[in-house]
Amino acid sequence: MIGLVDINAFYCSAETLFKPWLRDRPIVVASSNDGAVVSRNDQAKELGVVMSQPVFELREMIERKGLIVFSSNYELYQSLSNRFMAILTELAPVAHGYSIDEAFCILDGVPDPEAWARHAQSEILRRIGLPVGIGIGPTATLSKLASWAAKKFKARTGCVLDLSDPARQEKLLRYAKASDVWGIGPRLSERLSSELGVQTAWQLASADPKALRRQYNVNVERTARELLGIRCVAFDVDAAKRQTIICSRSFGTRITSLPILKEAVAGFVTNAAQKLRSQGSFANCIQVFARTSPFASGLQYGASRIISLPFPTHDTRDLLQVALAGLVDLYRDGPEYAKAGIVLSQFEQRVGMTNDLFAPPPRKNSDALMAVVDLINAKQGRGTVRLGRDTNVGQWKMRRDHLSPAYTTSWHALPNVRC
Ligand SMILES: [Mg+2]
Repeated sequence: MIGLVDINAFYCSAETLFKPWLRDRPIVVASSNDGAVVSRNDQAKELGVVMSQPVFELREMIERKGLIVFSSNYELYQSLSNRFMAILTELAPVAHGYSIDEAFCILDGVPDPEAWARHAQSEILRRIGLPVGIGIGPTATLSKLASWAAKKFKARTGCVLDLSDPARQEKLLRYAKASDVWGIGPRLSERLSSELGVQTAWQLASADPKALRRQYNVNVERTARELLGIRCVAFDVDAAKRQTIICSRSFGTRITSLPILKEAVAGFVTNAAQKLRSQGSFANCIQVFARTSPFASGLQYGASRIISLPFPTHDTRDLLQVALAGLVDLYRDGPEYAKAGIVLSQFEQRVGMTNDLFAPPPRKNSDALMAVVDLINAKQGRGTVRLGRDTNVGQWKMRRDHLSPAYTTSWHALPNVRC
């Protein structure tokens, strides 16, 4: 069986974790520069807030209905996400992070997957205070659908739904619309409906797979097969790549100087940025880390910085500035560094991006320049064109008027407890 573990309204839950008195209030979290809604809790949903709604449209709800808006605090979300993944890695035989708040857990060999799920749910709540929903099914697509239903019928399921039983699978497939299925977007579901008369997930599962491949593509065929319980989604490196890009390396010889460490990190950023562009994504968050070898006898040190970018970007120059600023901040003289790296995350695709009037302007001709850099490097070999290290940390600042403190990543922002 496969379990899909998904944090409920993740960004909102992360905000109320440190402000529990807001838990019953309607809450939304806005995208970079306070542009549009990227997360809403159940109470905000009831008020009628929709995903991607521009924040300026919410003024009346804020004034009259007590709706609370938070700016994206990606430092906080990423650090909580890291803890979420660490717990799952410990609890599940195999766990694959799929996005910032979702992970697929391979539960083959687990005797009672539902009992496992209830235990995982309570452990995650106990250790990091975040509520999760868990769907279980024989395939990734069915586990996604189970998790969707687990949340939809929260009162009955307690946010855990096990679809091991084929009779239950059929019941849910007959209930769910094709558009509720993972990977079937609004445009595709419209075509399926008008061209093949496919409305429900059950009809999609019953359609001729070969015809689906011919008329659409191989992914639709795979989805239909997955709905029938045949595993087609492989958990390879590629799947992970889409949501985070990691570039890191253990050094051949220990590094003890900041300029050399900067050069290494600059190389990681260059490679990661190129990968980011090749998949058409823009990153909102970058993490930089460096550490000594756990096997070395000398001084042990390791640190990381998670930094929100002022706007979603795929420009090597933007990413490099922020990464080097983070590196300078975490660097200490003395330790012999054995490994360093960067992680890009919180991706957006260009189509889904909301440009904000108040956002600092992106660099001019960024796309054109980066395209030329990538083209030359593709033809002449990696690293033919690279940036001189740019340590001049930019003055750009993101518009984040409703930002919560960095509770989990900064000593200065630790919450106070009074008793
Ligand atoms: Mg979620």
